[in-house]
Amino acid sequence: MNPLYESMATSVFERMSLAAAARGAINLGQGFPDFGWEPAMLAEAARALTGGSNQYAPSRGLPVLREAVAAHYGRHFGQTLTADQLCVTSGATEAIAAALLATVSPGDEVIVMTPAYDAYAPLVRRAGGAVREVTLRPPGWRIDRDALQAAVTPRTRAIILNNPHNPTGRLFDRDELAAVAAVAVAHDLIVIADEVWEHVLHDGQRFTPIATLPGMAARTIKCGSAGKIFSLTGWKIGWLVAAPELAALAARAHQFLTFASAPNLQAAVAYGLNEGDGWLDPMRVRFARARNRLAAGLTETGYAVLPSASTYFLCVDLAASGIVLDDEAFAALALDQAGVAVIPLSPFAEVAPPRHLIRLCFAKQDATIDAGVAALRRARELAA
Ligand code: GLN
Repeated sequence: MNPLYESMATSVFERMSLAAAARGAINLGQGFPDFGWEPAMLAEAARALTGGSNQYAPSRGLPVLREAVAAHYGRHFGQTLTADQLCVTSGATEAIAAALLATVSPGDEVIVMTPAYDAYAPLVRRAGGAVREVTLRPPGWRIDRDALQAAVTPRTRAIILNNPHNPTGRLFDRDELAAVAAVAVAHDLIVIADEVWEHVLHDGQRFTPIATLPGMAARTIKCGSAGKIFSLTGWKIGWLVAAPELAALAARAHQFLTFASAPNLQAAVAYGLNEGDGWLDPMRVRFARARNRLAAGLTETGYAVLPSASTYFLCVDLAASGIVLDDEAFAALALDQAGVAVIPLSPFAEVAPPRHLIRLCFAKQDATIDAGVAALRRARELAA
């Protein structure tokens, strides 16, 4: 078989969502809300679809959206950005791909902290790079400066930092961000900052973009996502933000990936960013309530639930729940015999993958969460 098949496995999200649909299972796997969000944004998109352009947008994105993103980060994080630091992409995953294609040359190494979103490693490799994993360990999942430093070699080109962190639900603290920045500055590395969960925070926490740390604005390519901010994951509107020259380089890569994204959706996202600051708190309240409902239901059922401070995911420790099956075996049993899709964590790492953890998405209506908990109760009984 072509060896590329192994180095580009089917994404665990696609695998589990397709299987859930085929089986008619409850889907607590791939991360997406199962409820609608702001009707005003949908109305804006419809207006732009029927009244606006349906031809190619400028490759770097509609100026109105680039300006809205820049203003958004000014209001929320005190950044002073200009539209020439921005490029609109078809989702954050494309932004990550463009960032890697713009920075990685054959033979370069890229540090990835695992468990990590499953797109990073295959994209690094297709850009000609090699992946150096730094393993984060539960239950703290802390970034250890010495471990990060030890992974740097003369070939290291970039660090991918995902903060807040999927799948663990961790928001890295000031010291951890400072450690990443210190290593990046000391070794002149680019940081590709996947910050798509920047607004999905719980318990009153505050997010700090790594680009705002000393020495980092010039070396950070930040990836953001309207899908995550507005719970519109299917729109696939994302962006990258970097210093002008770096942004221009990544924008060149983006030209040859998708060229441009749907103009009407871009217009609606610009509207949402300009009008929707007031939507963020209710979103966070809703997600935190959903997290508490899922965590309480699972705990009552005997599962060991790990804390989640951000994202709309929480992890369950199977071993600590008295389940001896590994994550993939449990996920298969949960899907086939109990009718609920979950995400095993082992596809999130290649070196030392955690095999005793699963991830669940709680961005769901109460009825979905309750049905998911009931199915997971059955799965637990079957796994015993
Ligand atoms: N970020 C989403 C998740 O973690 C998946 C995105 C995708 O499937 N491309 O579930």
